[in-house]
Formats: sequence, structure tokens, C-alpha cells
Amino acid sequence: MLSDECYITIHSKLNINHLPLLMNICKSIFAFLFATISAFLLPVILQAQPEPIYIKGGHYFDVESQKMKVNDGILIRGGRFYKIGETPSDNEPNDYKTISLGDDEYVLPGIVDVHAHFRMDAFGSESLEEIDEFKYNSMVYLANGVTSTFSNGVYYPEMELAAKKKINSGQWTGPRFFASGPYFGSARPGWEDFSKEEIYTQVDKWVAKGVDGFKTKGGDPETIKHLIKRAHFHGLTVAGHLGSGYRGTTNSITAIDMGIDRVEHILGGFVLDSTQYAYPVWNKVDTTSTAFKQTVQYFIDHGVYFDATMIAPVYFTSLKEGFDYWKDEQSLFTPYVQSLLSPRENQGASELMDGLYRAMRRSTKAFYDAGGGDLITLGTDAPSHGYFLAGFSAHREMHTMVMAGIPEAAVLKIATQNSANAIGQGSLLGSIETGKLADVYIVKGNPLDDIKNTRNVLQVIKSGEIYNPDELLEQVKGKIGPADATETESWFRYEELIK
Ligand SMILES: [Zn+2]
Repeated sequence: MLSDECYITIHSKLNINHLPLLMNICKSIFAFLFATISAFLLPVILQAQPEPIYIKGGHYFDVESQKMKVNDGILIRGGRFYKIGETPSDNEPNDYKTISLGDDEYVLPGIVDVHAHFRMDAFGSESLEEIDEFKYNSMVYLANGVTSTFSNGVYYPEMELAAKKKINSGQWTGPRFFASGPYFGSARPGWEDFSKEEIYTQVDKWVAKGVDGFKTKGGDPETIKHLIKRAHFHGLTVAGHLGSGYRGTTNSITAIDMGIDRVEHILGGFVLDSTQYAYPVWNKVDTTSTAFKQTVQYFIDHGVYFDATMIAPVYFTSLKEGFDYWKDEQSLFTPYVQSLLSPRENQGASELMDGLYRAMRRSTKAFYDAGGGDLITLGTDAPSHGYFLAGFSAHREMHTMVMAGIPEAAVLKIATQNSANAIGQGSLLGSIETGKLADVYIVKGNPLDDIKNTRNVLQVIKSGEIYNPDELLEQVKGKIGPADATETESWFRYEELIK
């Protein structure tokens, strides 16, 4: 639209002049203006109006039936799915860019990671706090078919919101960015017992600044009650990293009674003992016990989402299964950061985290079997400790769910529609349906035969924009982290975000 208007204005001004000399000057000015306008506006125009796309052949995953279907045509216009199961008709403009797929190629709805982190801790928690690195991690997410992220709790919310602006405006390349703002609870540096009025004021402030939902970690029942009430007033969701009720933490049952939308990591509930920390008790969870069954039923009866984050503890364990590399993730860090990273083989096992991982696997499967399949979400909760990057770990989480015994088709739905629903975006995102935003990734090999096929990403489309994953990763190569020790401090608060 913008380009047409420019053309018309410049042409009409040019045409009123009939003097040859002036005409030539005018032509030069026009040529200069045209070149300048094109150079500056063309990327913007392309951004605003992605090319219509016709995806032809191959298969696509239909979330509703949880089946892979033969693709009779997916038409994308204006960044949305325009028609599914149809080819371009004669009575519409023939302006489609055609993507032809082979029989062994599959279109999947874009992954929604509801527990995304952009954090890295290459230096060990002693020497420097964990760093949020948004610019390149975003590209890694997108290259992996993750087209939406909810960053579930940050230490530097102003930087998070600045990154959100860069990414969602198209200045930086990345998934749709949903921001959480600061933690509510003891996880926030400098946290204190705030009054109801103070919590309301903080929620209002962060909503005005542009957060899309909230996260409590280490919040007591009073905090969580006020947070949920005010977040819901604004139509936003609350996710909770909860506890047993011990030492000012909040049990999931209490939080569910207060209206929490999503519970992270463990179901907790009646299984836990309010006189002890959560994990040592949860690690011994008996999924056939009455306490466990009642807890599961409480989630289902109240429609509360459970974000399993099964791979999160693997960073601290000696477990290897499913934690292989299929791309050279380490090469994405700067050579300096690579030199700081110790090989994962040296990682010491923690009995507590080994136990947590196993408890997560069996309890998530039991939750699924009890009828909670629509309520499980995909969250990586994977700040990089130098071994894995969260974008890749979305595939590791899906693989782990299959290893836990959840069927592949259910896992694809968990990673897409369930997760979109959980952050309140289910009507726009999460499936390949007419009218929804056109977010997909195309893989080689059927993930219903082997879930690891989701790793073979050939192309990614976000709102009708096409991305080549290899090109994205090539741009990231050697870029994540400071170039040397002297750059560490300045890189930590990178200028592009704080100015
Ligand atoms: Zn987290």
C-alpha cells in the first residue's frame, strides 16, 4: 500500500513538468528518491506484506484429529492460513510463491515454548549472574521451528521488554515474543513482602509496559492470591513455580483454589508434605497412590495446565538418553565462551536431580493416562549451561515425552495447541487452521514414526515469512557470548537494548 502511494505522488509531480531540462533534473531527483525510498521502505513493505504462499504436496499435522493428513494444498495470505485442503482458484490473484514438498516432508504447526529462557551461564554462577541473550538465541529458537516463546521469568524485565519490541517489530529475527516481566516471589532479587496494593500497582505497571503474562516463583499464598486476581483483571495468565507450602512457599492445591492458570515442573499437591521441601518428597512419588490421583483430578477438574519441563533437571544429571547433538551447538558460542565450557561428560551427577527427572517422567505419563492430555504443555526451561541451547531443547523435550510413554501425536499437540491455549493464544496460534496465524515448520520424515524427525527442520514460516534454518544458524555461528574477558561486562548489558 505504502509503495503504491509513493509511486502515485512522485509520478503525478513529475508529469506536470514539460520542460526538457527540468525534466532531466526531475528524472535524476526521481531516480534518487526512488532508489532511496526503495532501499529504506522495501524491507518494511516485505515485512508488512509477506508474499502469499502455496504449500503443495507432502503431509501436514492436523491437531484436532491428531493425525497426519495428505496435503491437498495450504494457502497462506496476509500472514494467515487462507485455505486448507485447496489449490489456488482461478478467481483469485495468481501471486503465490509455491513451496513443493516431497512425499516424505511434513508441515507441522510452529512450536510454542511456554517456559522459554534466553539465558546462559557460561561462567558459572559464582563469577557472573546468568545473562539473558535475546538477539541470537531468538534466531536459534526460530531455526528450530519454535515460532512463539513465553519467557517464563526474567531478572532484567526492562531488557526483556526491549528485546520483545525488537523481535516483534521485525528489527530482530525471532519467534513471537511473549514477555513475563519480573518474578513475583523470592526468586526476584530484592523481593520483599509487598502489600496487596503494592502488588496491584506492580502488576498494573508491567501490564502498561507490555508484559503478556506473569510468573511466580517462591511466592507465598498472599502474594499469589493478589497476583492472580490483578493479572486476571487484565486478562493475563499466571504461571507458578510452586512448593510444598514449607517455608513460605505455596502448594499447587492452594494456588489452584486461587485460580492459577499453569503449574510448572511438578504437580505437587496432596503428595507433598508442608513440613519438608518439595523435591525430595516428590522424587519418591507413587503414581498409584490416592494422594497422587486426587492431585491429578484437582488439576483436571479446574482445567489447570501442567508444564512438565522434563528436560530441565537433565542439565544437572549424568543422564544421556535423548541428549545427543544433531547440530554443532557449541559452534554457536564465541570462541572465547567455547574455551570456558567444560565438556558435558565431566558433569557430576546429582542424585536429587536424577530422581526428579525420573519422577517427572512417570508422573507426566500418569497425568496423561488419567485424562490430562489436553493440559500438558511444552516448556524447555533450559537456560544454556554451555551444553545445549533452548531452541534445540524443544525437540529434546518432545523426545523425552515420547520416552515417558506419551504417544507422538499427543506430543505434537502438547507442543503446539495445548501450549498456545495455556498462554491465552489458542484462537490465533497452535494449529494449521483457516484464519490462524501461519506459523509452521517443515520437516523431513514423519514424526509420528519417530519423534526425532522433528529435528530435521527444512523451512520455518512465521506469519507467512519464510526462514531457512541453516542460514539462521550460520548467522549465529560464533556470536553467542562476549568475544573476550574485557567485553564481558559491556556485553552483559548490550547497548542495543538499553539505549
Ligand atoms: Zn525457568
